[in-house]
Amino acid sequence: MHQLRWHALLQQWVVVTTDRQNRPQMPANWCPFDPGSGRVPDHYDVHLYPNDFPAFSPAADPFDPDADGLFAETGPRGACDVILYSPEHTLPPSRLTLENWRKVIDLWTRRTCEHAANPDIALVAVFENCGEAVGVTMPHPHGQIYAMPFIPPTVQRELTSAQQYADAHDGECLFCRLLEEELKQGARIVSADEHFAAFVPYAARFPAEVAIYARRHVRTLLDLSEEEKASLARTISIIRKKYDNLYGFLMPLMMPVKQAPLRATSTPYHFHIQFLPLQRSPTKLKYLATIETAYGTFLADTAPEQMAESLRRAEPATS
Ligand SMILES: [Zn+2]
Ligand SMILES: [Zn+2]
Repeated sequence: MHQLRWHALLQQWVVVTTDRQNRPQMPANWCPFDPGSGRVPDHYDVHLYPNDFPAFSPAADPFDPDADGLFAETGPRGACDVILYSPEHTLPPSRLTLENWRKVIDLWTRRTCEHAANPDIALVAVFENCGEAVGVTMPHPHGQIYAMPFIPPTVQRELTSAQQYADAHDGECLFCRLLEEELKQGARIVSADEHFAAFVPYAARFPAEVAIYARRHVRTLLDLSEEEKASLARTISIIRKKYDNLYGFLMPLMMPVKQAPLRATSTPYHFHIQFLPLQRSPTKLKYLATIETAYGTFLADTAPEQMAESLRRAEPATS
């Protein structure tokens, strides 16, 4: 079974893919992402690998945006890819070179461009899950791209907030305003150059959460200049290194790279990356328990200003 089912109470699609349960057990000491496995080129630096058990697939039934009814269902047509960051199996993403991050960004951009030409795709969700605490058992450094046929609810909510703000403030971008205010206050800034700024958001929901915002108002990866991409690679690298130096081990985290929907071009949105780490202290993990999961209310036990200070102090130096 592979279908989207409508959650009428939360107004969101749930992907039902029973095939994923049948994922084969990988042989020990064998990794499909390693050169020589027969599944990837013998030589690569970054590589796009089609997800073997995709949640969204070009072969699935088409998505019908007008499907309705209490128990509406439709097809999950889209695409899912794995982005291999490096051929080196045990290299943590924090140790990627700038040149390597730059190639990852170019691959994200190329894939976004390809999906932009496909009318089935509404949003290109680029992301990385890192660490066993996030359920990643494969150490090989990789991220993913989900090309989705609908705008997922969190992005929809951000779009609605940005639209409401623009309507009330002469068309201003909510993200640009938030960034302007963060830069003015300064207490939560972790690292900034002329193209990107990284900060712990005022109302961070995750421990050590960081957002990277483009300083210029850009909507997607496709809008970034070469210089901006170089700056983005540098900023991602700095934050990843700081995370691993914060507690002295690989920080388990989620890294969504958030861009505007491909087709709703009049709605305000602003390109940014979020880092959502799960380690709330050197020894404790943050679990998304009932209050977060069922009631959507996050409890943060570190002041964002204090976390920004700890991250500024963690290597590498950024001032
Ligand atoms: Zn590997
Ligand atoms: Zn903006």
